Amino acid sequence: MALSRLDNLYRQVILDHTAHPHNKGTLDGATSQIELNNPTCGDVIQLHLQIKDNIIEEVRFDGHGCSISMASASMMTEAIKGKTEKEAIEVIAAFLELVQGEDVPNKRILGDAQMLSGVAKFPARIKCATLAWKALERGILEEHQKDQTSK
Ligand code: ZN
Repeated sequence: MALSRLDNLYRQVILDHTAHPHNKGTLDGATSQIELNNPTCGDVIQLHLQIKDNIIEEVRFDGHGCSISMASASMMTEAIKGKTEKEAIEVIAAFLELVQGEDVPNKRILGDAQMLSGVAKFPARIKCATLAWKALERGILEEHQKDQTSK
């Protein structure tokens, strides 16, 4: 496939996620709620997680911001729903490497989020793309701290 056509395909997938975000909204019974913002762009994300027995059973995001931040959040929820916390941490690491322009052998685990690899060419947008993923990382860490204090 010609590079320009591939770029168009990527753009289309990103636009679809922006226009019809997956898992957007709030979650009753969330075990973790994290809000993060990216002041350089004005993106705000609230992430709601329902984690049980180390599995991310449900995830929703809410907030507002640029297309990249919203599309990335939508893609992230798709990539990590139903995963164990350990798997989710691997997915986060793969995504952070991808948007830094690194070669990611296991990028398939990212699903549609693979389409955001082009962000690496626009360093100012990397924070937009990673916002939801950083929120997820924080949510998982908080969940672990809770586990340790309750034991
Ligand atoms: Zn942004």
